[in-house]
Amino acid sequence: MKRPKTAAERKARIDGILTGLDHMYPDATCALLHRNPWELLVATILSAQCTDKRVNEVTPGLFAKYPTPQDFAAVKPEVLAADIRSTGFFNNKAKSIVGAAQRVVNEFGGQVPKTIEEMLTIPGAARKTANVVLGTAYGIASGVVVDTHVSRISQRLDLTRNTDPVKIEQDLVKIIPKERWILFSHQLILHGRALCTARSPQCEPCELNPLCYAKDKQA
Ligand code: SF4
Repeated sequence: MKRPKTAAERKARIDGILTGLDHMYPDATCALLHRNPWELLVATILSAQCTDKRVNEVTPGLFAKYPTPQDFAAVKPEVLAADIRSTGFFNNKAKSIVGAAQRVVNEFGGQVPKTIEEMLTIPGAARKTANVVLGTAYGIASGVVVDTHVSRISQRLDLTRNTDPVKIEQDLVKIIPKERWILFSHQLILHGRALCTARSPQCEPCELNPLCYAKDKQA
């Protein structure tokens, strides 16, 4: 397959990738159930090393038991850990969520902040979590969410040659138009689950196939 050489060819290829993603995943959005930015922050912390499905089984009951950030701020981490046990890594997640709640209540008046700089001061909120919450709950394009799917597909599509998530994000924000950052993240996550899976990508039905020269592309 001919690889893009000029800036114009690279841009045309990116446009083609975005168009292909739009065809395959026109309504891509975050799969984590939430009613407000705080609930999305909690759900995102819970989603580390856990499926969205499992998180969605836990959060309705959790938010009924602790309806506000103030409720989470007041609970002991070991008590919360028992409530979120099925999501795995529950002790660390409970500490992060209680710490996040205390910071949101004490420093931000009970509201999840709207800037990446403030978000990154919240326990348990690294760039991935901050970008998920700002993008999905507030519609603020603060960056590109880089999870395992976005990392893998960005590498396969030669949008980055880095492996560190922060560096991958720096590469992506240079080549993906800012107005596409939020949707692009959701689309790649869906693509990673549906077709471009880690072990054996299903390349035949993939609309990005004509633009993809990944080493592990399937014939
Ligand atoms: S062609 Fe295959 S490897 Fe390339 S993006 Fe599509 S599914 Fe992934």
